[in-house]
Amino acid sequence: LNAQKSAVKAPVSLAYSIRELINVDNMRTNLHLLTKKAHVAGTENNLRVAELIRDQMINQGLENVHFNEYNVLLSYPNWTSPNQVEISDETGKVVHRTSGRSISLIREEQNDPFSEIQWLAYSAAGNVEGEIVYVNRATPKDIEHLEALGIDLKDKILLARYSSNFRGNIAQMAVRKGAKGCLIYSDPMQVAGLGTGINETYGRTDKMPPHAVQRGTVFVGFGDPRTPAFPSIGELYKEKTEQEVCFVSSVQLTQLINGKKIPTIPMLPIPYSEAQYLFENMKGDATIADFQGSLNVTYRYGPGLIKNQKLRMIVHAKNEERKIQNVLGYIKGNQEPEKFVLVSNHYDAWTYGAVDPNSGTTTLLEVSRALKSYQNSTGWVPARSILFAHWDAEEHGLIGSTEFCEEYRVQLMRRAVAVINMDLIGGNQTLLGLSNPTVANVLREAAASVEHPNQFEVENGRKTLYDSWKFYEPSKNNRSTHPYQRIPAGGSDHLPFFDYLGVPIVFFITSSLDAPPTYPLYHTIYETPYLIEKIMDPQFKMHRAMAGMFIEMIIKFTESKILPYELVCLKELTDDTIYDYLPRIQTHLRRAEALGNLTDYLKPSMKQFELLERTVKELSAIVQRRNISNLNNLSFDARVNENNKLIEFEKCFINPHGAPGNPQARHLLFHPSSDNWYDGDAISQVHDLISKMETSLDELELRRFSKQLAKEVALVNVAFICAKHSLN
Ligand code: GLU
Ligand code: ZN
Ligand code: ZN
Repeated sequence: LNAQKSAVKAPVSLAYSIRELINVDNMRTNLHLLTKKAHVAGTENNLRVAELIRDQMINQGLENVHFNEYNVLLSYPNWTSPNQVEISDETGKVVHRTSGRSISLIREEQNDPFSEIQWLAYSAAGNVEGEIVYVNRATPKDIEHLEALGIDLKDKILLARYSSNFRGNIAQMAVRKGAKGCLIYSDPMQVAGLGTGINETYGRTDKMPPHAVQRGTVFVGFGDPRTPAFPSIGELYKEKTEQEVCFVSSVQLTQLINGKKIPTIPMLPIPYSEAQYLFENMKGDATIADFQGSLNVTYRYGPGLIKNQKLRMIVHAKNEERKIQNVLGYIKGNQEPEKFVLVSNHYDAWTYGAVDPNSGTTTLLEVSRALKSYQNSTGWVPARSILFAHWDAEEHGLIGSTEFCEEYRVQLMRRAVAVINMDLIGGNQTLLGLSNPTVANVLREAAASVEHPNQFEVENGRKTLYDSWKFYEPSKNNRSTHPYQRIPAGGSDHLPFFDYLGVPIVFFITSSLDAPPTYPLYHTIYETPYLIEKIMDPQFKMHRAMAGMFIEMIIKFTESKILPYELVCLKELTDDTIYDYLPRIQTHLRRAEALGNLTDYLKPSMKQFELLERTVKELSAIVQRRNISNLNNLSFDARVNENNKLIEFEKCFINPHGAPGNPQARHLLFHPSSDNWYDGDAISQVHDLISKMETSLDELELRRFSKQLAKEVALVNVAFICAKHSLN
């Protein structure tokens, strides 16, 4: 028993010894080097950053350090001619014009005028005039509210505010409603707390100044938009031409490319000082409370401006093929060297990137340095290999990581044991994590073994990162005492790995809990080293803690004799989901019956749910019979065999055909929600069909949905049957 105990304990102390080597001075130095210039994907500046990362990885002694390149379609503004909003009076004279630029405040750190341009990637180019309508967070509920008031969005210019909604979904909604253009601003309620005076914002605090904007992509998808499920290698075939995805003021065009992924209308972020000006000049009724932010103005719905003023948006945008480079390097394992854990962060940024993503880049560089230096001084070699990846063009839409997944899909599906992805250190209050259910335990254990670096948290009894995570994100289900288990979704480079390939992922960031899901200065020009060093993490304590998280998880995935997948969690998730969805169908059934509708159409899908429940039970019986300590004592060959089966198990949930019309959406259990890319719905196809049924009473339509539902539930059932076989 003792021997077994120490065998289990060994990896923990190994991780701890490596963590001791983390040096925050290196992180500080690297942060400065990485953020000297704004470095958008596909630019010279970003290539310089890639070279810097590559050279450091070579110096650290990592093996096979190299660029992994793709030629992909990226999007840019006109760097010298800003995007603007104009208001003209009755006579056509322009009375107000936005500058379209953010203001650099610290010259030494913000010396790149291009970084000032305010834009959204993959906006259409356009010069459009229209009446303004305020759409709040642009959620389905908000749009319903507007429609109930009889406010039509067609041919309007929408004004939306950022919330926890992905901006691409705002764009999708605007196009769907026939809007001519869309402006998005960050309300001080989310990004500036109470004070919006200059003293209470950046410079003094981490709050957003009145003239700043959140940049970002409005592409809803992943990878080169021209090549879904196909790697954009060099001159290799691209499904769509550049022309096909290039927009010239195409306001008439309501059709979207590649299955509704890129907007055909101009999109632009504006500062809240400009939103204030618009509200002051807006017609229409005052809004309900939920539409109000904290600007000192009456929030109005519109449509239109007072005194017959006209609103115009002028957006310069172009899509261009550019070369991008992921930077890769290894530490080779010596027992199952063909298997690897992939450890990653992206390095491209909208401006200087000191938080997003180079707080992560500098942490990951220090992690690989510490691992290699431990190896050099002790001769230790990991049991499985470690692949370090610094992704490019994440910001445009997870492009570097997705192209890599599409090129190396066979190797990744067969040999990657997990992806550990980070992105940014967005505050020092709490950890936020998400993962595939089977590896949630690894994330939780790592969080529990890292002491909280924030004194306030410790004083309030939250001694580890796990404690604060659980405190700020408690479980929504009373069965679990763990933090809320988010469903894997979009938002960073882990998406293509779980959704397209079925590789289990863990993703973790930190947050100040201001401006969720990120931080007030997210994607602004103020992502400078000053922000980290003077305001967000002055002593790099949270950076050190995140390095600790990385190392704990790396060691767990490389050293555990049997891969640390907790299979039973998949049963829990599926049970919870069925438990959640079935009553909704039953409610629908009763509603339809009360209206005298024949409900026999529901029988086939109900039957499929029954069958699925049975398979899930059978699988869980098999899982429960597995005895991990017995497995740990197997011979080496038998363990390798077992680990291969475990990797196979996860792949059973991949549907090789993908979802209807989307060859990249292959995971049967997880895909970003259709309302919000940052959120996930479990068994998303099933979720969407049930939602559709709930809002329809058309008999023919209901029959069609129910038939589709039966098929989708059956596909999930097949995945579980397949998973059962993989454990035999
Ligand atoms: N991290 C980027 C963002 O939130 C890209 C996310 C994505 O495309 O999934 O804007
Ligand atoms: Zn990022
Ligand atoms: Zn970002």
